[in-house]
Amino acid sequence: AIKAIGIEDALAPAKPASAHDLLIIDASAGVAAAPAMFGLVSDLRSRAGTRFTTQLVLMPPKAPELAALFLDLGADDVVARGPSAAEMTLRIKALLRRKQQQDALRATVRDGLNAALTDPLTGLYNRRYFEPHLAKVTEQARKTGRGFAVMMIDIDHFKQINDRYGHAAGDKVLIALSDRLCENLRAIDTVARVGGEEFMVAMPRTSVRQVKLAADRLRRMINHAKFDIGSDYAPISVTISVGVAVSEKKGLRTCSVQDMCKTADQALYAAKSAGRNQVAIGQSAA
Ligand code: GH3
Ligand code: MG
Ligand code: MG
Repeated sequence: AIKAIGIEDALAPAKPASAHDLLIIDASAGVAAAPAMFGLVSDLRSRAGTRFTTQLVLMPPKAPELAALFLDLGADDVVARGPSAAEMTLRIKALLRRKQQQDALRATVRDGLNAALTDPLTGLYNRRYFEPHLAKVTEQARKTGRGFAVMMIDIDHFKQINDRYGHAAGDKVLIALSDRLCENLRAIDTVARVGGEEFMVAMPRTSVRQVKLAADRLRRMINHAKFDIGSDYAPISVTISVGVAVSEKKGLRTCSVQDMCKTADQALYAAKSAGRNQVAIGQSAA
């Protein structure tokens, strides 16, 4: 659909999804009115909602030198005053075709990035995302002096679930367990699936006391409600073991990502050895 709109309406869309595909910006009234149109072209290009909208500018009369300026500011194409309907149609078609290709390319890049950083089964971040993220959390904690924690979570006897109920049931447990973990952590915590049935959580601004409470809450919450594994079997109980590493106060100065992961890993091993369905707090970084 084609309609005439004012500057305000042109700039209004907050998201690319609700933006216009193409705007014909009429600067043909004369050179005096051109500055307002310069502002419009560059505003459209710089705002999140409209920056993928195609812009075609109808040029002011007798001012061909302004064409370069419009294009510089972000216009996709310019036409001199009084183009024929046939020419406009051709130009608009070409511009829209190009926009379609660019939109498709952007979507592909976005999907590719998503695929590279997330786990397709659970939708959680993967290790490739988590490791640099944890490095940032560590760096931030050093700067702010606020403690932070890392949890390593491993499902207990997960192999038995696969063996008894099949791989599909195992997958169902992984998905539901991922959801439960996310729902029971803060928005600033980041959960990743780092191995088959292993998860890690990065927790900025967290004390020893807080992470102990959080880890035990997760452990109880997993243990508390059974997991649905499809209509062939009754829901099953699942437990997790959690290894925790915390860095606070003086420890912040020297702790590294590697230390934190190693400590969490050793704590997890201790929780397993102590009988599973347990939380263990790592010592060295605390
Ligand atoms: P523990 O209590 O010591 O952790 O024992 P476990 O059985 O959980 O540990 P183990 O490492 O022996 O087994 C992990 C199993 O996880 C083996 C593997 O087949 C299974 N697994 C890994 N990835 C997936 C997956 O994506 N889906 C399913 N269904 N199973 C998976
Ligand atoms: Mg494991
Ligand atoms: Mg396991």
